[in-house]
Amino acid sequence: MEPITVKKIAITGAGQMGSGIAQVAAMNGYLVKLHDISQAQLEKAFGQMKVSLSKLHDKGIISADARENALGSIKLTTKLEDLNDSDFAIEAITENEAVKLDVFKALDNLLPKKAIIASNTSSIPITRLASSTQRPGQVIGMHFMNPVPLMKLVEIIPGFATDPAVTAATIALAEKLGKQVSQSQDYPGFVVNRILMPMINEAFNVLHENIASAEDIDKGMKLGTNQPMGPLTLADFIGLDTCLAIMRVLYQGTFDPRFRPSPLLTKYVEAGFLGKKTGRGVYTY
Ligand code: NAD
Repeated sequence: MEPITVKKIAITGAGQMGSGIAQVAAMNGYLVKLHDISQAQLEKAFGQMKVSLSKLHDKGIISADARENALGSIKLTTKLEDLNDSDFAIEAITENEAVKLDVFKALDNLLPKKAIIASNTSSIPITRLASSTQRPGQVIGMHFMNPVPLMKLVEIIPGFATDPAVTAATIALAEKLGKQVSQSQDYPGFVVNRILMPMINEAFNVLHENIASAEDIDKGMKLGTNQPMGPLTLADFIGLDTCLAIMRVLYQGTFDPRFRPSPLLTKYVEAGFLGKKTGRGVYTY
């Protein structure tokens, strides 16, 4: 493969993760196209990026010029075809395999032949996404953490067929975005969510069994195990739909009962109480 130079980054999915990735890419000098099927979501994302960049400016972390340059290098679009001249695409849409497969096929058809397609999925097998395309060697997992502008780690997950040069280029990009990387193999939940999500799921089981209140579960884990926030607060922050989707992937990928999704977590999602993003989850916002 010829050396991979990345200048133009496309991001599809302008939710909490996609907007954070777009912001960080723009702050680091990349030209960014941010796509979503919802115009309202794109506008909301742009508003959030403005607020976030202004906070960084107020804290003296970035100059006023840097803030304006970053905002000026982000183009918003609801047309996937507009991403067609990108060197590197990052998919950050809803954690749903069928929807992601459709988007991967569409991106594969429209992107330049040498472009890399990365997924920010929390748990869906990279190898399955890759094999839906004509370029499985150029598909990789690039798992950012939430909130992207603040969290240091990107988990890199090469699929079964990923070209080592693509892995190297993706690590180099993550580092240019100011992140540190860890590398995991493509097995259910990779590393971070394989360990984190069962803890969150167990917090829902403990709540379901009335062993403690949500506040006491969170307080116990926060102060007792030195975590920045308790597992139920964290679940609200991640999105309960995303947590449930990850538990289902862990369970269906292993058929191991220790990964069975908590019935209470399922109930919250069925009720549409998805956490901070919908104003109500375990807690009300
Ligand atoms: P979100 O619900 O905030 O945003 C998802 C966005 O995808 C929405 O704006 C929606 O309109 C858009 N979308 C849905 N279908 C689309 C399509 N076909 N084309 C374009 N856009 C589409 O979700 P999120 O929390 O940003 O999660 C996105 C991805 O990042 C998921 O794969 C999730 O597992 C992963 N992730 C989430 C977190 C987290 O803490 N929330 C952390 C790491 C990774």
